[in-house]
Amino acid sequence: MATVDLAVRNARILDGTGAAIIEGDVEITAGRISSVGRPSGAAATVEIDAGAMVLTPGFIDVHTHDDGALLRHPGLEFKVSQGCTSLVIGNCGFSAAPALIGATDHTKLLGTTANWTDLAGYAAAVQAARPACNAMALVGHNTIRHLVVGLERREPTPAELDQMRSHVRAAMAQGACGLSTGLIYEPGRYSSTAEIIALAREAAEAGGLYTTHLRNEGDRLLEAVEEALRIGREAGLPVQISHHKAAGRQNWGKVAASLALMDRANSEGLDVMADVYPYTAGSGPMAQYFNLDRLDPALAEVIRFASCPARRELEGRLCVDVAGEWGVVPVEVIRQVLSAPRGTETICIQFLIDEADIETNLRHPLMMVGSDGIPDLRGQPHPRLFGTFPRVLGRYVRERGVLALGEAVRRMTSLSCDRFGLVDRGRVVEGGWADLVLLDETTVIDRATYDDPKQESFGIGLVTINGVVAYRDGVHQPVRAGRMLRHGRS
Ligand SMILES: [Zn+2]
Repeated sequence: MATVDLAVRNARILDGTGAAIIEGDVEITAGRISSVGRPSGAAATVEIDAGAMVLTPGFIDVHTHDDGALLRHPGLEFKVSQGCTSLVIGNCGFSAAPALIGATDHTKLLGTTANWTDLAGYAAAVQAARPACNAMALVGHNTIRHLVVGLERREPTPAELDQMRSHVRAAMAQGACGLSTGLIYEPGRYSSTAEIIALAREAAEAGGLYTTHLRNEGDRLLEAVEEALRIGREAGLPVQISHHKAAGRQNWGKVAASLALMDRANSEGLDVMADVYPYTAGSGPMAQYFNLDRLDPALAEVIRFASCPARRELEGRLCVDVAGEWGVVPVEVIRQVLSAPRGTETICIQFLIDEADIETNLRHPLMMVGSDGIPDLRGQPHPRLFGTFPRVLGRYVRERGVLALGEAVRRMTSLSCDRFGLVDRGRVVEGGWADLVLLDETTVIDRATYDDPKQESFGIGLVTINGVVAYRDGVHQPVRAGRMLRHGRS
C-alpha cells in the first residue's frame, strides 16, 4: 500500500463538474489525488477532518494581471485566501513575455522588469521564485506590438507583421494557451482587425484560444463583440470575451444583447465564452482612459484613485471629493495628476457598471469568473484583487440565489480548465493534481471593500496546491508549490 501524504476525511465533495455533492474522503499522494470516496485504509501523514465544509477543486482565476506578482509577491496571499490555485496571466494584451532584457511594462500594469526575452525565460524566473499558485500564460498583443512597432499609430510593415507572428508562434511553442488583446489600450488600439486575425491564426495553429478586452465596452459594445467573433471565425479558434460588461449608464442592460450575439455564434459553430468579475467598477491604467487634449468630464466624475505614485495622498479617494477640496472641476484633478512626474503610472477605479448586468452575466452558463485584479499592493487596489471568488459564492450564490453552488464551482474550476488548457486540474478525480479547497458555504464571503480593499475573505478553510497545504484556517503556509503550466500538458 502506497503511503498517503494528506487525507481530507468525511468531506461533502463537489467534484467541479456540476454533479451533486457526494460524501467521502479524498486522499493525496505525491501531489495527485490518489482516491476519492471510500478511504483506502492507509493512514495519512496529515489527516484533516472536513467538518461541515464542502470540498471543491481549487479555483482558476482566468483573468489576472499577476505576471509580475508571481515574481514580486510569490506568496500570492490575495489569491490563495480566495481559494485560487491557478491563475491565467497575460490578459488584456499585456504579458510579461516576450520582452527585452531590462524592459519594464509600459503601462505599469504588470510591474515587471524583464530579465528574460521569451516565455521560456519568464517561466524559468517564475519557477525560481517558487510562487504559491500555478500559472498559465497568454501572450499579449500589446506587448508584442510594443516590442516590434513601438507605440506608433500605424500599420506594421509586412516584415514587422512576420516578426509579430513569430513571437506568437514562439510563445505557443513554449506553453502559452493563446493570444490576448486589449484593443482599447495603446498600442493595440492602432491595429486593424486583419492584423489580429493574422496573429490569432498562429495561436489557432497551436490549438490555442483568443481572449480579448474588446475594442469598446460601452457605446459600441455590440460592434466590438462582432469584431471578436469575426476574428474567431476567420482565424479559426475559440473566443473568450474578457470581463464582459456594458460600461456607462447609457449602455446598461446591453450585456443581454451581447450575450445573445455570443449564443447565436455558438449555435452557428463558433466557440465563444466569457468571464466576469462581480463588481460595478472597473480598474486600470488611468492614462489609457483619458486623452489629455480632450478629457472626458463624465468619466472624471466616477474615478477613484487606486495607486498614484505621483500623489500618494490621493490613493483611496474619489476624484470628485479631491476636486471639491481643491476647488476645481474633476477633469482638472485628472489633468494635474496625469501631468505630474510619474502621473501616467496611476491606476484608477471607475464606477461604470450596472449591478443587474452582473447578475445577467453570472446567470449565463458559459460565464466564468476572472478577477481582473491589479496586484499593486502599495495603494488602495480595487477590492476584486482580494474578494472576487468568495464574493460570487457568498453574495451571488448564497444571498441572491443567482446561481447554484455546484454550478458556480463548475464555472470556477472544470469549465475554466477545459477552456484554457489546464490538464488534470479543475476536478476532484483520481489521478488529478491535488489543487483543492475546503469552504463553508454558509459563511463564505469577501471582506475587501473599496475603503478597505486589502482584506482576506471569510469561509475558506483549506487550500492545497499540487498536494501541499498552502492555506489553512486563515494561515498561509511557507511552502509554495505552484508551477508554470503548459497548455494542454499535465
Ligand atoms: Zn482588460
